Amino acid sequence: MSDPEVLILGSGAAGLSLALRLAQQGHVVTVVSKSSLASGSTLWAQGGISAVLDADDSLENHVRDTLVAGAGLCDERAVRFTVERGPAAIRWLIEQGVVFTQEEGDERGRSLHLTREGGHSHRRVVHAADATGRAVETTLATLAGSHPNIRVRENCVAVDLIVDHVHKRVLGAYLLDIETDQVSAIAAKAVALCTGGANQVYLYSSNPHGASGDGIAMAWRAGCRVANMEFMQFHPTTLYHKDERSFLISEALRGEGAVLKLPESGERFMPRFDERGELAPRDIVARAIDHEMKRLGIQHVLLDITHKPASFIRTHFPSIFAHCLELGLNITREPIPVVPSAHFTCGGVITDLRSRTDVDGLYAIGEVTCTGLHGANRLASNSLLECLAFAEAAAADLHERLPSLPDPVALRPWDDSRVTDSDEDVVVSHNWLELRRFMWDYVGIVRTNKRLERAQHRVDLLKQEIQEYYGNYRINAGLVELRNLVTVADLIVRSALLRKESRGLHFTLDYPQTLPEALPTILPGRVASH
Ligand SMILES: Cc1cc2nc3c(=O)[nH]c(=O)nc-3n(C[C@H](O)[C@H](O)[C@H](O)COP(=O)(O)OP(=O)(O)OC[C@H]3O[C@@H](n4cnc5c(N)ncnc54)[C@H](O)[C@@H]3O)c2cc1C
Repeated sequence: MSDPEVLILGSGAAGLSLALRLAQQGHVVTVVSKSSLASGSTLWAQGGISAVLDADDSLENHVRDTLVAGAGLCDERAVRFTVERGPAAIRWLIEQGVVFTQEEGDERGRSLHLTREGGHSHRRVVHAADATGRAVETTLATLAGSHPNIRVRENCVAVDLIVDHVHKRVLGAYLLDIETDQVSAIAAKAVALCTGGANQVYLYSSNPHGASGDGIAMAWRAGCRVANMEFMQFHPTTLYHKDERSFLISEALRGEGAVLKLPESGERFMPRFDERGELAPRDIVARAIDHEMKRLGIQHVLLDITHKPASFIRTHFPSIFAHCLELGLNITREPIPVVPSAHFTCGGVITDLRSRTDVDGLYAIGEVTCTGLHGANRLASNSLLECLAFAEAAAADLHERLPSLPDPVALRPWDDSRVTDSDEDVVVSHNWLELRRFMWDYVGIVRTNKRLERAQHRVDLLKQEIQEYYGNYRINAGLVELRNLVTVADLIVRSALLRKESRGLHFTLDYPQTLPEALPTILPGRVASH
């Protein structure tokens, strides 16, 4: 089979929209996903996609709201670029067949229903009921799966990028087929990293299992700069349950009067932290829960809505009610155990407005990137928009450049002649857990120098152990992810140590003030061997 023109790693909103735009212009691409084609955080996105579509709203309003959320650290050019592309991005999705929730319009007929979310000054969130990501992802995956110019490789993990370091040019990537355990080298004229965020680096995460920061780690090893990794967004309330680690308990419950309580005493603690109580902004609620959990050494707090009539709860929150009931929890009678969880990675691989990275031919799109849009905190529903806007930009740039990019070259095959099969897989599972636990305890919502230094010490030890293991044993998907997770943990801790202030999502007791000048934290890439 001939080499693809573009190798797209990841099949969420970023990867699939890039693939479709290129394929529709006649380019041949390969899309790789480490699970099924319809996968990633995109599939789980609930709320919607922000775009200025209401006559009372304006692009200027959307820009301002994004800049305010980003706490002084957004790149205004990237914000304007993204916001301006919002309406066209929604039109493109509709043309692909995505069905969004409509409302009865005036005589001109039906129009899109827009919701309003925290931080948005106007109604501007387009949605498909409470499962927007599913509508987008399944529609795009169906189209991509049947397009003659798109080859799909599912259950295939990208292990590393292959780079010509002399010319700082990407040549392709090594892919591990999970079913056969074989690693192959795939050459392409260009490679796009669309691998999503790194939120699985924390013990509790709202993200699917695969959000292990693979793209960020691969790009960094290839020599790309990575920025703002200290800004990890935590969602305040995820279900705490032994069989369910990533089920979000919507903020709408608090909006409808649910209160946060301590497990033993039943004390309602939010009023001690903010006069708005449970209705304080997301970050303040997450910080308060974290504070109480650390102070008391408890595993979770409780979210109680039992004072509302059972019929109200069942009709307003049908999916949360049904899912909790399946797990044996009747939320009309019992409070819900909740913990905050890592939700969104604001930092990532530095890209420009064409989605180019520091390595020639290497593009990055979506949650894997740091485009400058989010700054120190993400405005809700801006992330799917970022995927769509920057995929369009990358497709336009690639369409122009592909004819002049060098043809793919023969690549050095993966060499596993000096490794053996491991008889100690426990090392991988143990280190996964250890890493995620200390990241949660020491590099979570509230930080201190001492906690960060403790974390750095443990990261250093794990890095050494994992690298040794990686060098001696045949790789598998778990080991590839663990190696990337420890790299990303290292980048987060180092970035957090460099920031001597509290800003946006980065809050440290040692530097509670915000400095007058907002500067990004930029870490230079480190060229490493495979
Ligand atoms: C529960 C939840 C709710 C959310 N709600 C919203 C919302 O309402 N609005 C909003 O704008 N944002 C929301 N977000 C955030 C948003 O969903 C993500 O930022 C966005 O979907 C990221 O898209 P992506 O294409 O960059 O990555 P993803 O959708 O995460 O896709 C990543 C892809 O990369 C693949 N992959 C990863 N590593 C490798 C590898 N090594 N090799 C091969 N393939 C790999 C995965 O299999 C997957 O296909 C939500 C997120 C979550 C988790």
